[in-house]
Amino acid sequence: MVRRIVNARVTDVTTADDLVQETLVRVLAAAGRVEPGMLEPYAIVTARNVVASLWREQDRHRRNRHRIVDLEVAECPDDDLVAQEEKSAVAEALGRLSERERDTLLAHEVSGQDTRSLAIELGSTAGAVAAQLNRTRARMRVEYLLALERIEPPTDRCRPVLFAVSSGDRRRQREVDAGRHLLECDVCARLSQPLVERGHSRDDVVRIPMRSDTDIVAARQAARELASRLEFRPTDLTLIATAVSEISRNIVRFAGSGEVVIELLDEPRRGVRVVARDTGPGIPDVEMALKDGFSTYNGLGLGLPGARRLMDEFAVASEVGRGTTVTMTKWRDQR
Ligand SMILES: [Zn+2]
Repeated sequence: MVRRIVNARVTDVTTADDLVQETLVRVLAAAGRVEPGMLEPYAIVTARNVVASLWREQDRHRRNRHRIVDLEVAECPDDDLVAQEEKSAVAEALGRLSERERDTLLAHEVSGQDTRSLAIELGSTAGAVAAQLNRTRARMRVEYLLALERIEPPTDRCRPVLFAVSSGDRRRQREVDAGRHLLECDVCARLSQPLVERGHSRDDVVRIPMRSDTDIVAARQAARELASRLEFRPTDLTLIATAVSEISRNIVRFAGSGEVVIELLDEPRRGVRVVARDTGPGIPDVEMALKDGFSTYNGLGLGLPGARRLMDEFAVASEVGRGTTVTMTKWRDQR
């Protein structure tokens, strides 16, 4: 289907191939946030946009060909203007939130107040505040785009659809029949793309590249922050943070670099999952490495066996010369 759409618009075979690939990459990247029934309309919209952006690019080059200067440099004088427009779009979008939404968002994002202390002030729970923040961010992204492009949506179904797309809430997408609306409404079709792609930032996943000791600290803090939204007991938060810093330290010490992904789970029950990957030398004997007392740390830290004890589930996959992946989970209501 994607190939058909692209081929109908682009004659050059190699270019068409590239565009099909580009479309599929974008669609697959967004698949987790899109209701299954919406994947087809989303693919159609994406294919059209990818072709259109190629045309815009070619057009820009054609128009600028006579300038024997670097295009990027030539654009610099506009930067101030762009920044100014973005600033006023943010201000306008903020103005469209309710006062409570705005205050909470600013307290969290700008002043750095955490969800727990916000919950105390609002007489709510950290989990409820986090969920509300997610909804507010989703609305903010929509209002920002509308303000930036100076668009008033053509129908009163548009905003609910855009909010559902922006939040990645698949149940809500189904309820408002977002897939059908995207096929019928050009405005929403165009806006939904940046909304889904911007959404690489699912708010319940954090990905931290591991290179140095400061990354270990960042991973530790991120794990604690995410887990606190599920209202783990303070002692559990400490266990999770400690396990994360142990496996992060493993990466920095032995592999040099890798990444740690921390994710909140709803299924089969609430919990936090941590996946630590590296492309380091690998562990020749995983069973041995998991035994207490076995330490390549020379006595420092808890190592893998320590991290395993702190979590509810723990798995190591390792291949010598290829790297190691540690997956560990702590459940909210284990006991
Ligand atoms: Zn619409």
